[in-house]
Amino acid sequence: MQDTHDAQDMPDMQGILQEIADRIEPLRGQGSVAAYIPSLGGVSPDRFGICVAMADGGVYGAGDWRVPFSIQSISKVFSLALVMSYDYDSIWRRVFREPSGTPFNSMIQLEADQGIPRNPFINAGALVVTDRLLTLTGDAAASVRGLLRLESGNPSLDIDPVVAASEADHGHRNASMAHLLASYGNLENPVEEVLANYFNQCALEMSCEDLAKSALFLARHGVSAGGTPFLSPNQSKRVNAVMLTCGTYDAAGEFAYRVGLPGKSGVGGGIVAIVPGRCAITVWGPALGPNGNSLAGIAALDHFTALTGWSIF
Ligand code: GLU
Repeated sequence: MQDTHDAQDMPDMQGILQEIADRIEPLRGQGSVAAYIPSLGGVSPDRFGICVAMADGGVYGAGDWRVPFSIQSISKVFSLALVMSYDYDSIWRRVFREPSGTPFNSMIQLEADQGIPRNPFINAGALVVTDRLLTLTGDAAASVRGLLRLESGNPSLDIDPVVAASEADHGHRNASMAHLLASYGNLENPVEEVLANYFNQCALEMSCEDLAKSALFLARHGVSAGGTPFLSPNQSKRVNAVMLTCGTYDAAGEFAYRVGLPGKSGVGGGIVAIVPGRCAITVWGPALGPNGNSLAGIAALDHFTALTGWSIF
C-alpha cells in the first residue's frame, strides 16, 4: 500500500488505548441507551470498549473490546460496500450522497425528493441498498454476515434473532418508509422481504475487535483481509467520503470537527472510524447523546486523534 506508514512512527498503541479508557471513565453511562428497539434497552449503559486494527495486522484493545454488541446502522457501510463491489456505481441512480440534516429515520425529505433518499446511511437509503443487495445475492443479510465473517476471521459471528424480531415488532416507521419507496418505484423486491433483510443485517452481533478487523479494507484502499481487492481504491475512497459526510446521523459536522475521520455509528452504541492507510478503530459505549451517537465513543475517538495525530485533516 503506497501510504501505509512505517513501523518507526508507530506510537505505544496499547498505552494510548488504556489512557483513553481512563479519560472517558467519567462519561461512562452518561446519555441514554436506545430503547425504541426494546431488546436493546436492556444493555448496561456503562460498558466501554475500544479496538484498533492496524493495516499491517496488529490489533490492540482495551475495556470491553471483545464483548459482542448490536451493530445496527454500522451494517450499512458493509451493505453499501458489497453493492458497490458487485454493481460498481449504479446504486447512485437510486440514492443521493448528501447529508440529510434530518434524523436517520425521518421521512420528510423522501416525499419531497420523489422517493430518492438523501444518502445510503439514513434508513430510507439503507433500505434501497439492502433491496439492491437482495436482488444481486438472493439474501442480503446473509451476504453481509458472510463478508463480516470473512473479514473478521470470526466464523461464528451471527444475527441475534431476538433483536431482529424486536425491531420488526416495532418497525412501523421503517415499514412506512419502505412502502413510500415502493410507491415511487424505488424498490425491486417485496417490502416485507426488504424489511426482513434490513432488520437482520442491523441485528448482527459483533465485538469491537470483529468490527475493526472487518472495516480494515477501508483503511487498506479496498484490499480484503485475504489480500485480494474487494473494492477498488477509488470505491474505497468513495465509501469513506460518504462516511465522513453522512455517517454519524445529524452530527456529521460535529464528528468531523471533533474526530476528523470518516466514521459510521449505530444506535447499539458502536462507532467505526477509518484512518486511511493506517488503521480501523471501533469504539462501543451503549449510552447515546441527543443525535444518537455514543457519547463515550465520540469522546474516545476525539482523544484518539488528538493523542496519535492521526486525522485526515
Ligand atoms: N435498525 C435501526 C433502525 O432502523 C438502525 C438505526 C441505527 O443504528 O441508526 O432504526
